[in-house]
Amino acid sequence: MFSDSGCSNGYYHHQEGGAFPEHNSPRSPHRGRGRRRGRRGRSHDPSDAPAFGASRVADAERREEQKPPPCTDFDMAYFHSYAHLGIHEEMIKDRVRTDTYRAAIMRHQSSIAGKVVVDVGCGTGILSIFCAQAGAKRVYAVDASDIAVQANEVVKANNLSDTVIVLHGRVEDVEIDEEVDVIISEWMGYMLLYESMLGSVITARDRWLKPGGLILPSNATLYMAPVTHSDRYSDSIDFWRNVYGIDMSAMLPLAKQCAFEEPCIETISGENVLTWPHVVKHVDCYTVTLGELESVTTRYKFKSMMRESSNNQSADVSQRKKRANPSEALVLSTAPEDPPTHWQQTMVFFYDPIDLEQDQLIDGSLTLTQSRENRRFMNIHLEYTSGGRSFVKESVMR
Ligand code: SAH
Repeated sequence: MFSDSGCSNGYYHHQEGGAFPEHNSPRSPHRGRGRRRGRRGRSHDPSDAPAFGASRVADAERREEQKPPPCTDFDMAYFHSYAHLGIHEEMIKDRVRTDTYRAAIMRHQSSIAGKVVVDVGCGTGILSIFCAQAGAKRVYAVDASDIAVQANEVVKANNLSDTVIVLHGRVEDVEIDEEVDVIISEWMGYMLLYESMLGSVITARDRWLKPGGLILPSNATLYMAPVTHSDRYSDSIDFWRNVYGIDMSAMLPLAKQCAFEEPCIETISGENVLTWPHVVKHVDCYTVTLGELESVTTRYKFKSMMRESSNNQSADVSQRKKRANPSEALVLSTAPEDPPTHWQQTMVFFYDPIDLEQDQLIDGSLTLTQSRENRRFMNIHLEYTSGGRSFVKESVMR
């Protein structure tokens, strides 16, 4: 059970029982709709690409004293969802994710060896253990979920208890009596910002990071682009036109609402993407503030480049849509043209398809706002104009 102390300091022992409401897991693919990592959908495709670059700019001035936000029932339910092993299994089995983290740790080994690290949201402890293997002097592995109890067992079983200190509590509440050289965290939710865990990394940074310290990942970018997915649309909508020979078109309005009211999290491919992506938000983990994440707005303008029918030409277009990475930073990409990850892509479907001609413009704006009822939920406000007609689509990722 998660007592009030679940959101206060230090390590405490797991107790049996479940005091909190069942909550769909933020990363589980089978958790109904909403939550962090794993679902199904299509139509828009924001993708996120955290980068493990090396710029280090922490300075004392930006460490404002922040009062910890209260640990709400929603937060308790959120941490409770991370007590299930399945969600951690899914993340760890996502090799793109886990191998990139390990590669980033090894690439920055000279900044980690002999140093003090905080792992914000350690889960099973895997990243903390990678850091210990890279020679860290001490790793504070912090997690408010009961998974921390297991993480502590894993640390003991690997004879790392002298190096890895598991703190079972919120990053906002636990006490660490020294400054740290490195912060590592796997905080990214669907559509990058869903789950609002980045705020806890900011808190850790402002509480403990030494000036000049390292944050992994150092930055992250959320992209959006128009996509087409007529098979998927037909599957959910046109299906009702003829059901075992029966005309069930009367279902169409309901089918559209049920299928597309919420954003869909599904894996698409680069072939589905119609244009170059647009940057919705770039986050520099050294400087980003809590306030900046409450609401993010971007204006976009897309010119569709229709795909050719031949496979080769399609591949060319897909290649052209690949983003450049001039700094050679290690990038954990969740883009549709790259190998799939458990984050998949997040799509906001229009209720009715819009016809696009080659080079037709679509413009508008996108606003992502942390929901008032639960800041881990995300309100999505999408405005678009195409072919002289304007539309607004509101959805909530919960
Ligand atoms: N680092 C692990 C787990 C990542 S999942 C891995 O890479 O596999 C994110 C974890 O962060 C979850 O276990 C969740 O319980 C924890 N978490 C999220 N916000 C937190 C906070 N404010 N304080 C402590 N733990 C947090």
